[in-house]
Amino acid sequence: MTTRSIVALVAGIAIIFWLACAYWTYKDARLRIEDSWLVGCATALGLVPFVGPLVYMLFRPPEYLEDVRERELEIKAIEDRLSRRDLICPVCRSAVDTSFLVCPVCTTKLRQACVNCRAPLEALWQVCPYCETPIESMGGASIVPRRER
Ligand SMILES: [Zn+2]
Ligand SMILES: [Zn+2]
Repeated sequence: MTTRSIVALVAGIAIIFWLACAYWTYKDARLRIEDSWLVGCATALGLVPFVGPLVYMLFRPPEYLEDVRERELEIKAIEDRLSRRDLICPVCRSAVDTSFLVCPVCTTKLRQACVNCRAPLEALWQVCPYCETPIESMGGASIVPRRER
């Protein structure tokens, strides 16, 4: 092996390593950065031999986009749960469905059922929307507190 071929070999390995680093930077940036223009910037930085990927690693976003999206979904789910306050039993605070007549946990009466079709009724309804039967108020704990009582 001549000195020249050794130099060529080392240079070849260096070029492969350089391209691999740039490709890794591109792949990693795509997972972490949404803006394609910024991904392009990161890739250009990754093309700076050897220093570029290191600088990129120092400044890249700490999380994968997938994780960020997952967390946003989780927060949204929690917010949805909080905004649906009326779907919580007023006595034991357990989650109840809009169609429940009584709380399945503490057996508190949540709604009255239509005398004709047994559909669950809202406290403010004057008539059953399913069968048009007029509703006579029967009392009992309801999810929406009545002011006149
Ligand atoms: Zn309850
Ligand atoms: Zn009805």
